Amino acid sequence: MNRSETRPIHVGNEQIGGQNRVVIQSMTNTRTKDVDSTVEQILRLEEAGCEIIRVAILDKEDALAVKQIREQIHIPLVSDIHFNPDFAIQAILSGTDKIRLNPGNIEDEGKIREIVKLCKERNVPIRIGINAGSLNRKYTHSEEAMIESAKDHLRILEALDFHDICLSFKSSDPLECIKAYRLAAETFPYPLHLGVTEAGGLLNSTIKSSLALGNLMLDGIGDTIRISISDDPIEEVRVARKLLRACGLKKDVANLISCPTCGRLQYDMLPIVKEMEAYLETVDKDISVAIMGCPVNGPQEAARADIGVAGGKQSAILFKKGQIVRTIPQDQIIQTLKEEIEKL
Ligand code: SF4
Repeated sequence: MNRSETRPIHVGNEQIGGQNRVVIQSMTNTRTKDVDSTVEQILRLEEAGCEIIRVAILDKEDALAVKQIREQIHIPLVSDIHFNPDFAIQAILSGTDKIRLNPGNIEDEGKIREIVKLCKERNVPIRIGINAGSLNRKYTHSEEAMIESAKDHLRILEALDFHDICLSFKSSDPLECIKAYRLAAETFPYPLHLGVTEAGGLLNSTIKSSLALGNLMLDGIGDTIRISISDDPIEEVRVARKLLRACGLKKDVANLISCPTCGRLQYDMLPIVKEMEAYLETVDKDISVAIMGCPVNGPQEAARADIGVAGGKQSAILFKKGQIVRTIPQDQIIQTLKEEIEKL
């Protein structure tokens, strides 16, 4: 797939943009100043596959906590600041790897200069986040207005010769997101952080985010993604990984193939699918595993799976790439699959 060439930025030890891989982000929902809870959540997110984490900075205590948090985690940290330049300055001094800040929201020009100077000294990039729901009142709501709003913020940073910038154009409407990001990709050289905002719970967000981000990424647009879900942020990372895999942009994620079941189903398949789906999330291999409902159609329908089972009345058949390998007792399906996956 041809990916849009954007100006790469460094976020700690990650690079966003250029022809680099699409990086998975999430955001904590703990109080940032509660260092123990925040670190605990970030470590769980790292384990799930999160590659950059963002925390909300609401006051000076949060900005100070960035230092202690960073010392205990292994992925780059982004400080999310609205309006208050002093919190941004403190977060940079605390060692944040990136800040999310819209310079046009800060009236004190001296403070903006100070932030930019510190960012330059410490190689800290800035994400400008345009949100369709909170555009400046001078604009009427449209995708073009989102682009114009970004230009307003960008002019301030570019006038100070600052270019380590990332942009986002989020909306709760996936179709609006697609239009805005497409326009942005034509207009700006900077890396794009993709996301549908206020996307709802797991099911709603998965649909909206997959529609918008999937379309964009298949067009080569997008350098980093965040799936916004009203749930445990672990879900955001799970969906992001699966979406990147489905788009062909991530290989080290195991893929589950399972049939929808029909009247030909011959065994209690659904609990096996559930257990294997959870297990496969711990398998960082480029493999496809199939669980099919009947031996007549199963192996053929899942011929591309590296390994699979199709359950019969008493037993199940194990197959590899559509070829039957052997018959196994039904109560050994899960164990056998796990053993075979280990060998792949
Ligand atoms: S594999 Fe068998 S049970 Fe599953 S959908 Fe196909 S025909 Fe039905």
